[in-house]
Parts: sequence; C-alpha cells; structure tokens
Amino acid sequence: MEKIYEGKAKILYPTDDKDILLTQFKDDATAFNAQKRGTIKGKGEINCQISSALFQWLESKGIATHFIDQPAPRQMRVRAVKIIPVEVVVRNIAAGSLCRQTGLAEGIVLPFPLVEFYLKNDELGDPLLTRDRLLVLELATTEQLKQLRSFALKINTYLTEFFASCQITLVDFKLEFGLDTQGNLLLADEISPDTCRLWDQQKNDPSDRVLDKDRFRRDLGEVETAYQEVQQRVLEKLVIG
Ligand code: UDP
Repeated sequence: MEKIYEGKAKILYPTDDKDILLTQFKDDATAFNAQKRGTIKGKGEINCQISSALFQWLESKGIATHFIDQPAPRQMRVRAVKIIPVEVVVRNIAAGSLCRQTGLAEGIVLPFPLVEFYLKNDELGDPLLTRDRLLVLELATTEQLKQLRSFALKINTYLTEFFASCQITLVDFKLEFGLDTQGNLLLADEISPDTCRLWDQQKNDPSDRVLDKDRFRRDLGEVETAYQEVQQRVLEKLVIG
C-alpha cells in the first residue's frame, strides 16, 4: 500500500474513505532529535494497544480523539485531521528538559501542572514557544490556544488518576492535536511510554522506577520489560471494547 507519510514511530496509510487513515506503529525508537536510533522489540504493538485503550477511555470521559478502532495489533484507524504542529507538554513532576533548562532538581513535585508548547520542527530542535510566538506564527488562534490548554489539563487530571490506579506516577507527557474537516479539535497521535514519563510507584530507586522511553534514552536496559509492564497494568484496567 502507498504510504502517505512515514514518521519516526509510525507509518500513515490512506484508506478507501478519505476521512479515515490507517496508522501502523513501528518498533523503531529515536531520541535526542533522532540522533540516537534503535529498536524496541514489540514496541509498535504495545504502544498501539496502550494508545487505543487510553483513547477509548478518554472518549468515554468526553475527550474527542481521532481514534476509530484497532483492526490489527499494531494498527489504528483514525479520523483524518490536520495536525497542529505544536507539541503540548504537561508536567506534574520536574524531569527532562525542564530540569536541564531551569536547574530544577529531577523529581520535584510542581506546585501546579505546567502546560508548555513546543514547535514540532526537528530541524529547529522543537523549540519552546511562548504564547505570543504561537500567535505570531499563527499556529493556533487565541480561542484554540485556550482550548488546547483546557483539554491538556483535563487529560492530565484523568490520566494522572488512571495511572495512579496502576501504581504508576505520571511525571509528564506530550500530546498532539488536530483539526477535522469541520474544524473540531481532536486529540491525535499517541499516548504511550514513548510520549509519557511513567514512574513505578512500587520501586524507589530513581533508575529502577523508570517505565518509559527514558530507559532507551539513558541506556538503563530492560526497555522491552518496562514497556510490557505498562501494557499489562494498563490493559488489566481497560478492557478494549
Ligand atoms: N516528548 C515526546 N516527544 C518529543 C519531546 C518530548 O513525546 O519530541 C515527551 C517526553 O517523552 C516527556 C515529555 O514529552 O514525557 C517532556 O519531554 P522533555 O521536554 O522533558 O524532553 P526530553 O527531556 O525528553 O528531551
């Protein structure tokens, strides 16, 4: 089948219906703006299953997503949307670039969830945007910006509570949104250990507790085991309908 687009973690295919696309999740892993490359065995299937389950669950909470169904273990059918080229990051605990850029110590609980916007542009290294830069670049309207923030905070509330029920702390995560043909804002892309920082509440050691892509980024080992652990805990709670 002719691809529409191949990204770092997924391939996008057309379907007979122009309003529906097929996403195929890959085992390929990249970090540090694709300077580090590798494979995480089984990741495509795991991330597709976790994302599908979380999208369906969020839909049941009233969050509109692009998810339609999962025709195969590593395939997701989604509504075609125009992706807003902004990565919306929500942080509950300091980690990653927030620590590097501000000097905050990793693991500090933030006084309130921090919503940040990054430009989705590998060549520019995904720079942090201000509200005004976002408006100047016409990446979203003031109204859409408000909506993005409010969606992101709502999703954070739901996901934090959900992951806590799996004995996992949701440290931070990245979301992407798109607009459908009617201009509705839909949650798109994926929610998986590739796009979230997830810490195991059953472990205290700062390296042992990592259940996400930081195991790959920081060469902590047992990457596949961590992804499988998240899959098992998430799917145990959310039976895919
Ligand atoms: N993230 C992502 N894709 C990106 C950048 C970040 O999914 O291109 C996620 C990342 O996994 C983490 C959160 O967004 O859960 C915040 O990432 P951060 O800004 O700390 O960047 P990093 O330290 O990973 O470079």
